[in-house]
Amino acid sequence: MEYLYTIENLKMILGPSQQPKIKLSDCRICSKLPDRVSKVNVPSRNEFGSFPYEVTKLEEFIIIKYTWQILMCPLCCRLYTDEYHYEYLAGGSEDVYVISRLEYHDALEMLREIKAKKLTKEDHRWLVTW
Ligand SMILES: [Zn+2]
Repeated sequence: MEYLYTIENLKMILGPSQQPKIKLSDCRICSKLPDRVSKVNVPSRNEFGSFPYEVTKLEEFIIIKYTWQILMCPLCCRLYTDEYHYEYLAGGSEDVYVISRLEYHDALEMLREIKAKKLTKEDHRWLVTW
């Protein structure tokens, strides 16, 4: 299914996250996650960080880029950004992964600034295309 990248369609897609179904402290996934959590991998030194286990329970929701996605909690519909970037350093590169909780209005604002063309639904995920 393909939709035009319009504010109305973004609101429709993000709709369920506007009123999370349960309080943050009552969600058994979200209550275990801080507002922002990161991990760093340094493959050249064989060092690998880890996320809290609950991160694995978040579901892919909107794929903006390979390195930048929005995840959704399947229990309460709260949103998270999932970003990845790497930093070149003298001793070898670092891979940095950051998961941050995202309010509905901030998600809408962020997506509005992207000049995309289409939103394509693929299973339970949305792909942003240019
Ligand atoms: Zn939740």
